Amino acid sequence: MHISAVILGDLELHLLTAGHWKADGGLMFGVVPKVMWEKKKPADGNNMIDMACVGLIARVNGRVLVCETGIGTKLSEKRARQVVLREPEGLLHSLKRLGIRPEEVDAVITTHLHWDHAGGLTRRDAQGGLELTFKNARHFIQHTEWDFALHPDQRSESAFVKDDFTPLADGNQVVEFVDGDAEVLPGVHVRHVGGHTPGSQVLVLRSGELACAVTGDLVCQTPHLRVPWTMSADIDPLRVLQEKARLFEEAERHRWLLVLSHETEHPAGYLEDGGRWTPEPGLA
Ligand SMILES: [Zn+2]
Repeated sequence: MHISAVILGDLELHLLTAGHWKADGGLMFGVVPKVMWEKKKPADGNNMIDMACVGLIARVNGRVLVCETGIGTKLSEKRARQVVLREPEGLLHSLKRLGIRPEEVDAVITTHLHWDHAGGLTRRDAQGGLELTFKNARHFIQHTEWDFALHPDQRSESAFVKDDFTPLADGNQVVEFVDGDAEVLPGVHVRHVGGHTPGSQVLVLRSGELACAVTGDLVCQTPHLRVPWTMSADIDPLRVLQEKARLFEEAERHRWLLVLSHETEHPAGYLEDGGRWTPEPGLA
């Protein structure tokens, strides 16, 4: 079987597609008029557009890292139907294709704790209880994200599901809280960007001059590569604009590989001069 990968210095990177689903177009594009976004992302009769849950599986200096876990397998049937969920087992299937068992994963990073990023952190066991998907992994989460996810404001409440993340700390001790920017493992950096949620972080993997950034919902899909095209769910939209501009400037200048959280077509690629997107063929 052909397994696509990209090698950047010490980094071995594999694209993780942890499921497909649909989201409301207005949620995804906020104040951008529909006549503009629907040319790029056509909506169905319910105004929903196609989404993927995209992340990375990486080998970094001998460690296995999973970034983003997608929706996971705990949604009710009704909810799964509402969001047209497909292939929710993609997380473990992708690992299996690489010959990696869940207990062999050393570190897990989700960019934030929204249900469509953190859902795969836990699963239902045979008795219907909750279990950790990666029980031996260190899980790096911003402190501010954890606090907000436990006590979200009314507007954000429905986007957090406590069963996704509280088991990481209840009865298990696999969470490591991060405050701001940090190098959590050699070559593995988290950058606190906030904006979308208080503790949203971008993962930056580095080897020498080479780098790959997993953007989280700072940049969901290729139309969001325009700085002002942002989601209506962002709690601090102006901060999103600032952080996007900063990320794009660096990514363009140093030719960082970017992985976009919800893109369905070519989620990994390079931002070129003038905002052009060049897909990375090794991460298709
Ligand atoms: Zn989100």
